[in-house]
Amino acid sequence: MYLALIGIAFFLILTLIAIRLAWGKREPAVPNEEELIHKSGIFSVVRQSPRVNVYDYKPKEEEICQYLADTNVDIHGNTLLEADKQRLRKMWNNHLEASIRVVEQGDTKGVDFYYYDFEAEDPICADFVRKGHFVTREEIYKHPRLLPPFHVGCHCRLAGYHGTSEELRDTTKSTISPLFTDGECPPLPDWHTVLKPA
Ligand SMILES: [Zn+2]
Repeated sequence: MYLALIGIAFFLILTLIAIRLAWGKREPAVPNEEELIHKSGIFSVVRQSPRVNVYDYKPKEEEICQYLADTNVDIHGNTLLEADKQRLRKMWNNHLEASIRVVEQGDTKGVDFYYYDFEAEDPICADFVRKGHFVTREEIYKHPRLLPPFHVGCHCRLAGYHGTSEELRDTTKSTISPLFTDGECPPLPDWHTVLKPA
């Protein structure tokens, strides 16, 4: 009799353990996106192409076109001819497309850092971004407006950084430094500020 009771109790305990294990499998703990990014540094979700939402943060060609229709001088008072306006529109499209491609290509190689460079003097950007400032892929993911151009006629370009993060953060040995200084996205030029192409 006692043996039978012990047997039943043992069977019940085993059943409870089996139920618990099965339940645990059905509900795996899914950490949220923030936790994953935090734990793994750069997680695949960050690698979504900026093309998906960049126009939520940057003006489209039509908007640039409309704005330039009523703008006849640049920030220095230089007259903008129709040919200049057409060139500025093309520059905007080409440069934004170039920035998107740099990031898309970088993502295929696991690039985590990007830096800014200038193909010509740019007095509008000078107060905000300088050559050698860098941003992380995660910062670009969170703030797509970090993709140049920053304003009409901008000469800023984005490039992938292929060295190690230790080299990048060693500011004593290089001229590169992070654009973000306190974890916040810093102010960037107003896109309406026009710089006439040379
Ligand atoms: Zn600029």
